[in-house]
Amino acid sequence: MLDCECSADGERMLRHFFRLHGLFVASHPWEVIMGTIAVTICLVSMNAFTNNDQICGWNHQCPKAQEKSGDVLLLTVTRCIAIVYIYIQFKNLRQLGSKYILGIAGLFTIFSSFVFSTVVVHFLGKELTGLNEALPFFLLLIDLSKACTLAKFALSSNSQEEVRENIAQGMAILGPTFTLDALVECLVIGVGTMSGVRQLEIMCCFGCMSVLANYFVFMTFFPACVSLVLELSRESREGRPVWQLSHFARVLEEEEGNKPNPVTQRVKMIMLLPLCWWTVELQLSIIIVLCDGPVVWLWFTRTHDSSRSLRLTTGAAQTVDLEQIITLSLALLLAAKYVFFEQAETESSLSIKSPVATPSCTLTNGKAGEERHKKLCTGTKSTKVVDVDKSEGDGACDRSGGDCLSQQRRPVEECLAVLKDPNRGAGCLSNAEVMALVESRGILGYRLEAVMETPERGVLIRREMLSKKLPDASALENLPYKHYDYSKVIGTNCENVIGYVPVPVGVAGPLLLDGKEFHVPMATTEGCLVASTNRGCRAVTLSGGVSSRVLADGMTRGPVVQLPSACRAAEVKAWLESAEGFGRVKEAFDLTSRFARLERLQVSLAGRNLYIRFQSQTGDAMGMNMLSKGTEQALTGLQEAFPDLRILALSGNFCTDKKPAAVNWIHGRGKSTVCEAIVPARVVTEVLKSSAPALVELNISKNLVGSAMAGSIGGFNAHAANIVTAIYIACGQDPAQTAGSSNCITLMERVGADGDDLYISCTMPSLELGTVGGGTGLPAQHACLQMLGVQGASARCPGENSRTLARVVCATVLAGELSLMAALAAGHLVKSHMTHNRSKVNLEETEQQPMQTT
Ligand code: NAP
Repeated sequence: MLDCECSADGERMLRHFFRLHGLFVASHPWEVIMGTIAVTICLVSMNAFTNNDQICGWNHQCPKAQEKSGDVLLLTVTRCIAIVYIYIQFKNLRQLGSKYILGIAGLFTIFSSFVFSTVVVHFLGKELTGLNEALPFFLLLIDLSKACTLAKFALSSNSQEEVRENIAQGMAILGPTFTLDALVECLVIGVGTMSGVRQLEIMCCFGCMSVLANYFVFMTFFPACVSLVLELSRESREGRPVWQLSHFARVLEEEEGNKPNPVTQRVKMIMLLPLCWWTVELQLSIIIVLCDGPVVWLWFTRTHDSSRSLRLTTGAAQTVDLEQIITLSLALLLAAKYVFFEQAETESSLSIKSPVATPSCTLTNGKAGEERHKKLCTGTKSTKVVDVDKSEGDGACDRSGGDCLSQQRRPVEECLAVLKDPNRGAGCLSNAEVMALVESRGILGYRLEAVMETPERGVLIRREMLSKKLPDASALENLPYKHYDYSKVIGTNCENVIGYVPVPVGVAGPLLLDGKEFHVPMATTEGCLVASTNRGCRAVTLSGGVSSRVLADGMTRGPVVQLPSACRAAEVKAWLESAEGFGRVKEAFDLTSRFARLERLQVSLAGRNLYIRFQSQTGDAMGMNMLSKGTEQALTGLQEAFPDLRILALSGNFCTDKKPAAVNWIHGRGKSTVCEAIVPARVVTEVLKSSAPALVELNISKNLVGSAMAGSIGGFNAHAANIVTAIYIACGQDPAQTAGSSNCITLMERVGADGDDLYISCTMPSLELGTVGGGTGLPAQHACLQMLGVQGASARCPGENSRTLARVVCATVLAGELSLMAALAAGHLVKSHMTHNRSKVNLEETEQQPMQTT
């Protein structure tokens, strides 16, 4: 038992050590790369300085092997096997999927070969011919799969921090195994160096060097390079991290789905590099130069003398060793096979389609998508770090075989078994099989994102299933769904997701508010709105800015409860309004949140029904969930005090949420805010093209009398809802709450010595908003909050960020009011809307349609 614990502790420590090492290497790539190169160069110069041929205990045994016919045969066979082995390794990697992985593997091979060559040339003797014999053994011992696994760890990251973390994690998992493997290999091969058989001793000596060179590069240069390359390419295409899974997947699709392109050709070149490297070292680089007349063969032949100089020989074709011809032919054959035939093979294998694929499926998913899933399954099972880790451990998902994702649709029971198998899962099912499972309720439709190996695939399958039921199967083609972080949506913001609707975001500002400038994001499709608000911002900013105050801060929830009689209801009302009653309810309410603190109970009675409006601050959150949670808890306590009380509903519309209601207008809800500005006559004339008397008169006639005539509640303004909605959508607020949040009264007065300056104020008693929770955490919405410097929870004082947002909304409304009122007063409204709403494109499109009359 104790032994067990000790070994577990040891393993933990070892993993921890390798994790730290990985983290260090990935965090300091430049230093590690330079250090590795410096060490390699030192090895070279050390030998140059010492001129010591005896550094390696083996090297007295290592001069060029005598070329007996047996040795030559052995060497030729080894070289051929090495070429085929490397070719197969790269081919397998190509099956996995990506030019990044291929490039990384190529880099790993080339640099390891370089280190190895350096070691061999400088420690085992100064003969390049020795290298000629050694490289095949090196290439035979290279294992690219571990390097690729580590690369996949890195590629599954969403940010540079994650890259480092994942490389550290990969190191923690692979490092101990790789170290142990290297040690065992060295020991086993090392035995051969003492065999007494000279040729075997030399080969084993090369073998040990290979293992050590590989290990050295894997632990240092390689992870540093991966980290660096990913960091440098982070803001590559479309400003999106190249390794971001969704983007990475697209890269795979692009690579796999397209015709041969320059990128593919480059990948091929990378793959050929190791082979070329070796063939060069085998003295087999042939350059044919055509001069006028006779063919001249130029042979770059590495001489076998100690000076290692290159000798150029011209003349007729020279006699080439049979051994060299064989290895060269094989290398060229494989290269030609890859360049001319592999692509065709890949393309034909890509043409496998889902049996139930619909036209829209082909468009949205298509062969590249199916193939990607196939590859995820056969090659890596999943790009998720945890899965790589798992498959390392149990190897249950067939990495080499192609049977994991069947090309035939399997029976539902078999698919269900695959789905439930923790070692296979949804990644091993085709889209058609998943759809069959949804139809048979083996997978619940709404759980698709959660069940699939990536949420995006769940969304894709739901779209495909839906498309078939729509009047137009191509309806969803223009509804985007890719490159969206659904993990932030699931369980928080939306269900049954089929994509997202992009809305243009404009900016109004700078808006000078309480001495600080803000640039306000506005998401809208109403042309003119941002331009007009921007003009208002300019007017108030030129006038010295807007001043604002938050008057009250309290979200509300108003449940309805019932008592046996109206008199009993009155008793409960009185108890709730007493200090004792309020204290008891508050005690229960306050337990439910770190931020919600009950401040007020407003109780109204209708017959035997009791409406209780709970009011509480909610920190930086808009607070509806918070209030609901606290209210529910408080009602449970109330029911204990009054067992004859029946809870009819947690919300009795007395809150009032998402509906126009006088209670919010009169008592306030959320943030009650006011702001004001004085606009000098000059600005009114030059920027707003109006005058203070005209604006004041219009404000009375329209916003006050006009709204009173309409029986408006809280609608004493020109278009507060316009600005509120645009900011709410941009900043991830609940858009339905614009119903209450747009309550606003706009007042204007003539001020100044001549009465030509304009005083304007906007009072908004019920701004329901927050900077935490709801949609505020989604990346784009979060970015808009960031523009205002109010994202997330305030570090200084809970509630400060949301109150600042409320002031910004109110001040922007004021700017919007000013501009629209001025446009109306000057009679510019229709003209500016025609300019901004009916662009040339819109008009041209409209002109081609027959005129509609209503
Ligand atoms: P929430 O995301 O449900 O709750 C806010 C969470 O953030 C709480 O867990 C809170 O901690 C935590 N938090 C951390 N720092 C905070 C800070 N500085 N200030 C405030 N909270 C902080 O958000 P919510 O505003 O209560 O609810 C908003 C969501 O409710 C929106 O999605 C909206 O669409 C939806 N909604 C619900 C209803 C309903 O009837 N339930 C009605 C309308 C809208 P604690 O756990 O300690 O409180």
